[in-house]
Amino acid sequence: MRSYEKSRGKLTEARQVLAGGVASTLRGSMKPTPLYAESASGVIVKDMDGNQYIDYLLAYGPLILGHAHAGFNEKVSRAMAKGITYGLQHDGEIELARRLTELLPCADKVALSGSGTEAVMLALRLSRAFTGKRKIVRFHGHYHGWSDSIFTSFPSPDMMQTATSAEVDNVPPGTKGQSELSLRDVILLPWNDPEKLESTLRAHAGDIAAVISEPVMCNSGCIMPHPGYLEKMRELTRELNIVFILDEVITGFRLSPGGAHDRFGIMPDLVTVGKALGGGIALSAVGGRKDILGLIDSEQVSHLGTLNGNGVAMAAGMAVLDHLTENGGAVFGKMEHTAIRLANGIRDLFGKHGISGVVNQIGPVFHMMFIREAAVTHFDTFQKRDAAKYAKFAELMLDEGVLVRPNGLWYISAVHEPEHIEATLTAIDLVFFRLKE
Ligand code: PLP
Repeated sequence: MRSYEKSRGKLTEARQVLAGGVASTLRGSMKPTPLYAESASGVIVKDMDGNQYIDYLLAYGPLILGHAHAGFNEKVSRAMAKGITYGLQHDGEIELARRLTELLPCADKVALSGSGTEAVMLALRLSRAFTGKRKIVRFHGHYHGWSDSIFTSFPSPDMMQTATSAEVDNVPPGTKGQSELSLRDVILLPWNDPEKLESTLRAHAGDIAAVISEPVMCNSGCIMPHPGYLEKMRELTRELNIVFILDEVITGFRLSPGGAHDRFGIMPDLVTVGKALGGGIALSAVGGRKDILGLIDSEQVSHLGTLNGNGVAMAAGMAVLDHLTENGGAVFGKMEHTAIRLANGIRDLFGKHGISGVVNQIGPVFHMMFIREAAVTHFDTFQKRDAAKYAKFAELMLDEGVLVRPNGLWYISAVHEPEHIEATLTAIDLVFFRLKE
């Protein structure tokens, strides 16, 4: 058994001065204790107790090039040496904006921010300003950041079965202290349910400013859109004068150089990207139609942020995009191949150990769950997974030197190599024996 004593001690120390002891609430759930990092390189992270891990957390998604990537660090350091941020305009902003419009099929123009949460806030504001309407449709199991205007907790599956439409409209806040007024304008729907989508949009078309959706339900089970579903979303929103926002904060620059909407051939009105784009530096963007982003040009919509467009973030974005697109974007094939090898290996190990489980994978991201159902294609089914068993699995994996997120989502980077995958499968094999003890 590994020791986590230094991490435990540090958490106690942190709690004296740092609210919650961790800097983002989600991180507090790691068992046996939230880990304190010492250093990291490539896909290997070292904690303060001297333990090493193969990393599939990847800082919750941004580290698509892994840790301390030499080319990335060099470009970012060079930018830093020229002054981190000016509060003036500089060429780096134009360069990155142009690159984003070249890569993202739906983006005539972009606006730059620092986090996925901010990008979503801006996309919602633009939608309301553009349509003159105020309601936002979002879906169970999707996550769009923690701003008051969109953060919800999810009703239990039982409630979803029995809820009247009035109760479903009554969206539960995600946290104490959240303004209920802002959620008054949110309509929460089940995803992959085209009939419910159509009836709701038609009934409330006069009030609905936007539909916001993850293109793949990465935050809850990596569930794929059913054939025709996103196309239906596109058609209905176009017909009913509703802005269609695809939230690609996870899928952007991960499922393909142009994100999921490029891969699926779906044209949203607005797209939000973040995470991988900054490679670990705070950076996000909204891209989309020029008539919608034009509301910022005409100063009808305010878009602010002291550090927006800073030189370090621009250099980080360019470094990531340069690396991901070199050799015709060959690295996307490599990442996908690596993810498929690992996902298939896990499925084989489920079979070998007689454990019921599902792995939903697309590109370099997958969700692994312990569940009796043979397939997970809806949020309701996803809710039936054994989350406690998975949390135990994640804890035991730390002992075997593999860092995974306690909720089941795995990220593959450009620098995960076959030897990491084989070592990880060996670790899972051992942990599956221990899980049955
Ligand atoms: N949108 C999606 C789809 C996300 O997964 C996340 C974060 O996980 C966000 C938005 C919020 O991004 P951030 O944590 O950078 O604010």
